[in-house]
Amino acid sequence: MTDQLVAERNWAGNYSYQAPQLAHPASVEELQGLVAGAQKVRALGSRHSFNSIADTAGTLVVLDQLDPGISVDAANMTVTVSGGTRYGTLAAELQRQGFALHNLASLPHISVAGAVSTATHGSGDANGNLASAVAGLELVTADGSILSVRRGDEDFDGMVVGLGALGIVTKLTLDIQPTFDVAQNVFENLNWDLVLENFDQITSSAYSVSLFTDWSGETVGQAWLKRRGGDAAAETSDFFGGTPATEARHPLPGVSGSNCTQQLGMAGPWSDRLAHFRMEFTPSQGDELQSEYLIPREHAVDALRTMRRLSDVVTPLLLVGEIRTVAADQLWLSANYGRDGIGLHFTWRQDQPAVEAILPLLEAELGPFAARPHWGKLFDAGAAVVAPLYPRFNDFIALAERLDPSGKFRNDFLDRTVFGS
Ligand SMILES: Cc1cc2nc3c(=O)[nH]c(=O)nc-3n(C[C@H](O)[C@H](O)[C@H](O)COP(=O)(O)OP(=O)(O)OC[C@H]3O[C@@H](n4cnc5c(N)ncnc54)[C@H](O)[C@@H]3O)c2cc1C
Repeated sequence: MTDQLVAERNWAGNYSYQAPQLAHPASVEELQGLVAGAQKVRALGSRHSFNSIADTAGTLVVLDQLDPGISVDAANMTVTVSGGTRYGTLAAELQRQGFALHNLASLPHISVAGAVSTATHGSGDANGNLASAVAGLELVTADGSILSVRRGDEDFDGMVVGLGALGIVTKLTLDIQPTFDVAQNVFENLNWDLVLENFDQITSSAYSVSLFTDWSGETVGQAWLKRRGGDAAAETSDFFGGTPATEARHPLPGVSGSNCTQQLGMAGPWSDRLAHFRMEFTPSQGDELQSEYLIPREHAVDALRTMRRLSDVVTPLLLVGEIRTVAADQLWLSANYGRDGIGLHFTWRQDQPAVEAILPLLEAELGPFAARPHWGKLFDAGAAVVAPLYPRFNDFIALAERLDPSGKFRNDFLDRTVFGS
């Protein structure tokens, strides 16, 4: 089914897709025909990116008519799923069958293919991003044929974080593990000096740790600790100057914690704790923009000091900032390629001109730390700045040109940030 596209917007409402057509193929065969016959085409996931990465001058394809097809292979400990399936749907089914993914992003609402394509991540010193769990991919390439690749195949590492530039991912196979419980505790008002002195100890103190701050003042607003297996219901001790929250918290000061996953140390399934936000509610705040930069671990504390110094400029535009850790992977365009790192995330007030005005300054300050921008969020850097940050960048371009010689999947965003170097 193909509709004329009438001003479809992304989740944040800050971007209107320019594509003249929107298609919802009812089968992979229909999708193959559509791609083969298109001059310009791209996949649209759940529309949670904040920039124009998904857009096309031709047909935007949404996979919501394809069956989620969730199929567990317990012998190989993998699950295969249709690209348009949302993590929340997948997580609930895996939990029902006694299995788990290694991690989730802050929200379960995003599609698996869309999240993997931009190297979306959660937190945890030993946790790679969501793309690092991909063991296999099936995609419809430019000529309409199906390409299946598995981990270990030539060019596989270039195909996973594909930015939608290589084809339309119809199926992904992901690593799974036996289900596990998680207990989540929030601590408030940690001492900044202690955080900087003990950063490694803090981020390694739980399976997944997030710090929330607006960068001003002498304290870090909140630390969210997701502990695996344990129950920590009786948490009373201080945590680097921070005290345990006594009721459910939202990362944004003053917002009710009711749309957030269970806290207060009550252990329960990974599928209900690893994300910050619950599937049934609007994640985060809604009226917002986001940026994020991934920085090598060895520069973490210096980058945090830089951000505190920039507080006068950054804090007035910020709803909240989040600091997470992500383990290295080998996926060519992953912002975690080849290096353990931290994510410096910014949830901005929804004032795009003001955010766009501040990004060059932020990127100039974080540039010396080899900061890689999150592909799905707002950033200023073009290909000339981005390319040197990725050792396999030229290999990715060669792969894209081989799989898509006429540039069917290319768009303005990719021309600016990837192909324009
Ligand atoms: C409230 C909120 C919280 C967020 N939290 C996090 C977080 O915790 N961690 C983090 O890293 N990011 C986070 N993000 C960013 C988000 O995870 C990414 O932008 C992600 O790519 C969105 O996935 P999507 O399904 O909405 O994809 P879209 O935004 O629709 O598309 C993203 C890209 O994927 C491509 N794509 C989509 N489907 C396919 C397919 N089937 N085949 C090929 N390419 C495809 C598109 O062409 C596009 O290039 C958050 C965003 C929001 C709005």
